Amino acid sequence: MSRVYNFSAGPAVLPEEVLKEAADEMMDYRGTGMSVMEMSHRSKAYDQIIKEAEQDLRDLMNIPDNYKVLFLQGGASQQFAMIPMNLMKNKKAAYIVTGQWAKKAFQEAQIYGDAVKVASSEDKTFSYIPDCSDLDIPEDADYVYICENNTIYGTKFKELPNTKGHTLVADVSSCFLSEPVDVSKYGVIYGGVQKNIGPAGVVIVIIREDLITEDTLPGTPTMLKYKIHADAQSLYNTPPAYGIYICGKVFKWLKKMGGLDAMKKRNEEKAKILYDFLDESKLFKGTVVAKDRSLMNVPFVTGNEELDAKFVKEAKEAGFENLKGHRTVGGMRASIYNAMPKEGVEKLVEFMKKFEAENA
Ligand SMILES: *Cc1c(COP(=O)(O)O)cnc(C)c1O
Repeated sequence: MSRVYNFSAGPAVLPEEVLKEAADEMMDYRGTGMSVMEMSHRSKAYDQIIKEAEQDLRDLMNIPDNYKVLFLQGGASQQFAMIPMNLMKNKKAAYIVTGQWAKKAFQEAQIYGDAVKVASSEDKTFSYIPDCSDLDIPEDADYVYICENNTIYGTKFKELPNTKGHTLVADVSSCFLSEPVDVSKYGVIYGGVQKNIGPAGVVIVIIREDLITEDTLPGTPTMLKYKIHADAQSLYNTPPAYGIYICGKVFKWLKKMGGLDAMKKRNEEKAKILYDFLDESKLFKGTVVAKDRSLMNVPFVTGNEELDAKFVKEAKEAGFENLKGHRTVGGMRASIYNAMPKEGVEKLVEFMKKFEAENA
């Protein structure tokens, strides 16, 4: 067996320990004589899996009791619609557009009401986070929406926007569990799990209880109502059962690693290795404003498209996979999520140094 260093933005690298454990339990999950994939989601064994997953997530993030944790389907993109359908009581919301995912959410919300763009960094290809300390937020806006870590562009909100008392909704798909968060500052925190937690198809929604109501926009499908899923503890219909099981294993792995404080430290160390090199390199350059740099997604370029392509090709041959930048940006991007070992980043930088010397 040989595994590569996988720098994919998502679906992305998972802890080897978790994969091995899942492999061990594949044919017979703890004496049940079946795989988790084959078992009823109403069984005792599965009930324990989903309850433990929720509790471990609550422990990791210190989620207050007045928040529900929902394990849903449809990926992060489904939430682009579900959020306005459930939260737009006044049919108005403020969106901060800092990348493609925020833009998609903003566009989707326009289907359901008056989505107002209150800030954007599109003027400089989303290479920075705009100043959000004093935005012109409509009084009657139901919420303020951000994408906290911009997967494609490699920027991160280091400070949350001043919402002026409005509910904050955040897509944290690509920074989920990468560092501690104060959940109480948000109304909704959600993310697709395939970036930093588990297999694609599961989206986790952490939502303050008072935001879960019967009062959704007319025509909202049953499956898209938070209340339906909250009342049924994520078991209204068959959940993405196997995916949730893997998420649960990753939560246990994170606890064993020391929790989110330890992950933050580890992620800062890893990112520093790469950013320090980018700052000193004569060939490679980071593409975003230094103070807004993401710890998770690190885009960079050589300034020469042919050389970029050569780098991606040679890196792949050397065992560094998925370094090609997003199709809308070009260049390279190294995603260095929780499960990427420090050694993977060190070896990548070694390889970049060698490439730079050879192509000077
Ligand atoms: C990947 C990603 C999405 C889309 O996720 P899907 O699960 O494919 O819908 C949305 N937001 C962010 C920040 C992402 O990184």
